[in-house]
Amino acid sequence: ETPQATNFLRNIIQDDLQNGRHETIVTRFPPEPNGYLHIGHAKSICLNFGLAKEFGGRCHLRFDDTNPAKEDTEYIESIKESVHWLGFDWGSHLYYASNYFEQLYQWAEQLILQGKAYVDDLTAEEIRAHRGTLTEPGKESPYRGRTVEENLDLFRRMRAGEFPDGAKVLRAKIDMASPNMNLRDPVMYRIIHAPHPHVGDAWRIYPMYDYAHGQSDAIEGITHSVCTLEFEDHKPLYEWFLANLPVPARPRQYEFARLNLSYTVMSKRKLLQLVQDGDVSGWDDPRMPTIMGLRRRGYTPESLRSFCDRIGVGRSDSWIDMSILEESVREDLNQRAPRAMAVLHPVKLVIENYPEGEGEQFSLANHPQRPELGSRTVPFCRELFIEQDDFMENPVKGFHRLAPGKEVRLRGAYIVTCTGFVKDETGAVTEIRCSYDPETRSGLPGAERKVKGVIHWVSARHAVAAEVRLYDRLFSVPNPAGDDWKALINPASVEILRDCRLEPSLARAGAEERFQFERQGYFCVDLRETRPGTPVFNRTVTLRDSWVK
Ligand code: ATP
Ligand code: MG
Ligand code: MG
Repeated sequence: ETPQATNFLRNIIQDDLQNGRHETIVTRFPPEPNGYLHIGHAKSICLNFGLAKEFGGRCHLRFDDTNPAKEDTEYIESIKESVHWLGFDWGSHLYYASNYFEQLYQWAEQLILQGKAYVDDLTAEEIRAHRGTLTEPGKESPYRGRTVEENLDLFRRMRAGEFPDGAKVLRAKIDMASPNMNLRDPVMYRIIHAPHPHVGDAWRIYPMYDYAHGQSDAIEGITHSVCTLEFEDHKPLYEWFLANLPVPARPRQYEFARLNLSYTVMSKRKLLQLVQDGDVSGWDDPRMPTIMGLRRRGYTPESLRSFCDRIGVGRSDSWIDMSILEESVREDLNQRAPRAMAVLHPVKLVIENYPEGEGEQFSLANHPQRPELGSRTVPFCRELFIEQDDFMENPVKGFHRLAPGKEVRLRGAYIVTCTGFVKDETGAVTEIRCSYDPETRSGLPGAERKVKGVIHWVSARHAVAAEVRLYDRLFSVPNPAGDDWKALINPASVEILRDCRLEPSLARAGAEERFQFERQGYFCVDLRETRPGTPVFNRTVTLRDSWVK
């Protein structure tokens, strides 16, 4: 199935263009700047910007900044960075709902004048109690009958800052018996004495999402306002405001299923809690499902876009397994990442019959299938580092690497035979000894000789010391829900290795450069904590899906 075939919105738009309902389409991505964007937002970004691009329309980036208590300019900046990094561009179409506050206020006065809105003195709790249930109609507020003059006067005084937070709200006067709870006189404005990250201290009252959203869409000429399914029940309210106000356009709302991803959490409230409690190093911690976290982890924009294509856009809620996201980056990096050798748990290997001194240089291809990526030289000498677990004193059945008397090929170099090893007083192997067969140098006829194991290595004298962080899934279970969700954090979500040895070409790697460390996985240079001379690498993903359920 092609990705397009799973996107029902394409058909709607195609129809609208064909039968002349719209000449061009305008979509928008409307984040609230109260956190960093996550992979669920990436789905919405790919959808909205993708549809605009496909049909020659445009997509706006609009900050839905109606609640100053939770919003911050740091979030505004990170959101812009995330959208750009993902590969999308709003051009000159950057908007803020807060820029429409004056217009929204004027329209609210018009609803009051039409008798369709009133100031209510009930507390938030009382309003909730009056709202009723699905089977029981709500109760009207005792303030519902206020006159237009009284409402107008009180609303103006709310704006002027005369009342404390929570003292009053403005509500739409719709229907307290409506089967749709959203139509039981929804709150339009509340009092918040807090400065706003975008419009400063201009306002003491702020519109609710439901009152701001549709009108913002209308002001911007949005044709297709795409949101997640939980807003389906809000659609009649969206329509009600547009029908009762002199808006310049009639956008339409369409809903799609949000992305749910296993082994992580995506609510911004929970992500914020992880940051605030220090469970992660920040919003861009490489274990976070945020776009900035995935970036630091080594995900490419292409891999996230292809993930979004692959999962499609539908109207039924479902869970996507983390392995699908991991597979999308694995496939992308397999194509693009140059290969390199890195020893993460080093132990020395001494080649007894190899001459002391400078050693030699091997030329190794950077990519087995892509000769255009060229090659690099890798120094080789008498003392190397190999992985501790590529040696076993008493090899188990099926172990085809180094063991006393056994031979193995050193990738791109020679076949060596283990002649002995040295242990320290704790019993740990500190050195492995071997001899090499000069006839088996890569490229010589002797190299054809078959050996079962091939291992990677680095020259001890030339190796670069580095820190490598092995990241894994943030949670141990597919659905970390419930009050105790934080107890489900994977205790092994990161392992920091401080004494790794890398082939010297990696000393030149710059921030965010990505590699396949042979036999280990895909790694990238950390964006923040790498320093010249002391590189830090993050493991993006292992070579194969090795998650044990
Ligand atoms: P949260 O509930 O975690 O605070 P939100 O939906 O309130 O998230 P917004 O900033 O309002 O976050 O989201 C901006 C846009 O991204 C909205 O149109 C929303 O529908 C969409 N979006 C948010 N989460 C997801 C998701 N998991 N899958 C798809 N789209 C999403
Ligand atoms: Mg939210
Ligand atoms: Mg929201």
